[in-house]
Amino acid sequence: MVELEHTRGLLSELGLDTASELLDAKIEDAMHKNSTYLSFLSELLEAEIQEKKRRSEETRIKLSRLPHRKTLEEFDFGFQPSIDVKQIKELSTLAFVARKENVIFLGPPGVGKTHLAVGLAMQALRSGMTVYYASLAHLIADLKKAAQQDKLERRWRIYTRPDVLIIDEVGYMQLDRASAELFFRLICSRYENGSIILTSNKYFGDWGELMNDTVIATAILDRLLHHAHIINIRGESYRLKDRLKAGVRVVPPADIPVLNNTVQGEKFQTKPAIGSIFNRRFGQKYPGVDTGACVLCLITFISLISIVYFYNLYIVNFYNFYRFIRLRQNCFRSPLFFPGIINCHMLSFFSCKVCS
Ligand code: ADP
Ligand code: MG
Repeated sequence: MVELEHTRGLLSELGLDTASELLDAKIEDAMHKNSTYLSFLSELLEAEIQEKKRRSEETRIKLSRLPHRKTLEEFDFGFQPSIDVKQIKELSTLAFVARKENVIFLGPPGVGKTHLAVGLAMQALRSGMTVYYASLAHLIADLKKAAQQDKLERRWRIYTRPDVLIIDEVGYMQLDRASAELFFRLICSRYENGSIILTSNKYFGDWGELMNDTVIATAILDRLLHHAHIINIRGESYRLKDRLKAGVRVVPPADIPVLNNTVQGEKFQTKPAIGSIFNRRFGQKYPGVDTGACVLCLITFISLISIVYFYNLYIVNFYNFYRFIRLRQNCFRSPLFFPGIINCHMLSFFSCKVCS
């Protein structure tokens, strides 16, 4: 018993806490299985290493500041047929991290950009890599605060050191010049030094407006896209999955403005969603109502009424006017003829009266 306590103490002193804790159980197990000394030692050290790995992964997950721990296995690829599953599987091998390449997820809200970014990050963390997650708004606010407190260089390392940096939600916030410059500096620091996983609801053509400066936007995109895997997701929001099943459509499939942008041979084209403009405008005021569809119905209805009205006004009355000319040859001398050309419906209405 004393010998056991002594050995446990030695293991603890060496920092092998799990081996120390499991010593009793492993000795009993070895006796039961009639294991050799070597296999007993190997099993004990294996348990220690496993626990160390688990703790290290847990620490790295906490430090990464991921918003959740969703994995790629939890992603329903059937719901998003526009995603190339093979491409995601290839990315999950993390070869892109070794090659310091970037991954960019584009698409409207709710299609799973953050989920996929976090899924890849979880894979990287499992493989012993380091990750840091920040939304663009948080990242800029953090760096600006650090600059004000004269701690920028120290804070900078948080974003440049990790193997993978996730910059989420690019496009929801327009940057001022100082923020765009900070963002540019960060992209330059990581360029060919570390991978970035970026998600955005805006296409690259809109980045000039987003950064308030087309020169900076072009310089950022130039570096970001030099070695990049671009995943363009076009589909329905997963958040509205159940509502869609119930037949309610609040957000149209592609909420991104029309753009033809060719990046590294890939062509992006999205259709304009007119209804989405109204949904975006009135969606919050009238939640659950497809305001886009309502407005479009109203426009169609007004158009139909207008067609019927103008048909009566111009075609029918014009015909009356024509009859008036035929019946009364001297109508050309009528002072009402030329104004009638300009305002034919009034004259034709008048002629109608004269004819009758
Ligand atoms: P985005 O970043 O594109 O706005 P998120 O990744 O935040 O969308 O997805 C919104 C929610 O829907 C999250 O809870 C996410 O886990 C879930 N989700 C989105 N797409 C899928 C999917 N295809 N399979 C499973 N869950 C999904
Ligand atoms: Mg997101």
